Amino acid sequence: MRTIYTGLQLRAEVLAVMRERMKRGSIARKQYRRAYQIRWPATQVRILGSSEKVEHNVEQGMLTTIIYQAAHRESLAYGGRNFCSMATGSVEDGTGCAGPCLGHTAGHLRCSYDARAWRTLTFLFRPDIWRAIVSYELELLIGRAEREGLVPGCRPNGCTDTIYEVVAPWMFKAPIQFYDYTKVLTRFRRPLPSNYYLVASRSDTNEEQCLSLLRDGICNVAVVFRDLARAVRLGWKGYPVIDGSVHDCRPIDGRGFIVGLCVKGFVDTSNPFFVEV
Ligand code: SF4
Repeated sequence: MRTIYTGLQLRAEVLAVMRERMKRGSIARKQYRRAYQIRWPATQVRILGSSEKVEHNVEQGMLTTIIYQAAHRESLAYGGRNFCSMATGSVEDGTGCAGPCLGHTAGHLRCSYDARAWRTLTFLFRPDIWRAIVSYELELLIGRAEREGLVPGCRPNGCTDTIYEVVAPWMFKAPIQFYDYTKVLTRFRRPLPSNYYLVASRSDTNEEQCLSLLRDGICNVAVVFRDLARAVRLGWKGYPVIDGSVHDCRPIDGRGFIVGLCVKGFVDTSNPFFVEV
């Protein structure tokens, strides 16, 4: 019989593990206290979520869910780790990709922070529960997509850069189209699951490597432009730029394109992470 996890059950289990870890000294007391202040979901938990942009994937025939967990170093405050190994700059001084990262700047309401925190803690300290919840929710997604005549899709790295094909290979057995943007370019050297589509994500330090992957026809490259409309009109570095801000259904893009994205939020646009055409 399938176990449906409730928020209260999850809260109790995760806290029990954290208490245990604290006893063993693996989480400092201060970090534990901060983690304890995280507000846990009162009722049923959800790991797969949505966003305005992935909702537009429906117009392309894909019903898409997305996982938002703690970006970059956000989870260090409560005993986590850096989830974006190739991120540049820092949130504190607004530099690199971490400064303007939507993982920090969007969803800055307390409830979004709390949800990212408990999902991340569950992922780290109770991967069995995390897997059970994700598997259950992916099945619900498949059922709903079937009823609506859509292709089920999932973007597991909403604001992280986790190598899911290594840490959760079981996920790709589901008949779902997965996709992600990534700055961990070594991922393109290994074979990926056939239902996992990756786009290389340019930062202020990896431009050459991204362009070489594009030249070799291995993947498309996502670039954040200061003026996206101009980039779409003129192209960039000799490649056509498609407007990647209309929807997020990347697997239908084809190959040989720059996926142009626009600046979001109140950020310093002089940051070299943003490209001028
Ligand atoms: S790697 Fe991506 S998700 Fe991580 S901090 Fe940079 S922009 Fe954000």
